[in-house]
Amino acid sequence: MPEISEHIHHADWKTEKHVPAIDAADSVKAGEAFAVSVTVGKEIAHPNTTEHHISWIDLYFFAEGEKFAHHVAHFEFSAHGESGAGPNLGPAYTVSQATAFLKVNKPGMLHAVAMCNIHGLWESSKAVAVA
Ligand code: FE
Repeated sequence: MPEISEHIHHADWKTEKHVPAIDAADSVKAGEAFAVSVTVGKEIAHPNTTEHHISWIDLYFFAEGEKFAHHVAHFEFSAHGESGAGPNLGPAYTVSQATAFLKVNKPGMLHAVAMCNIHGLWESSKAVAVA
């Protein structure tokens, strides 16, 4: 039986424009809020047009020793030049970049999944230690 995980692509965000870059501290204090930024296009710009754009980025946290991942944020990028006058004639384009503030009490792994409306799902991860 095919699984969705088979369709989530992995690559280095520095060389593949679809992969979300995760920026967060390597080590955080338990119970203290820290910023996690996710960006598609940090190194290589991704198109942002009505026909081709990043639709959303999901952020998950998988704590060490736990059985299941936790969904911590969903960022929807809704404006891509749509207009009644025609595609790409609208006034607004959402940039595929967002920041969540998160508290954790265990070390673990942040996972970001980005959706391109044409090229599908792309993942990256970043470890977070708890001091
Ligand atoms: Fe794309």
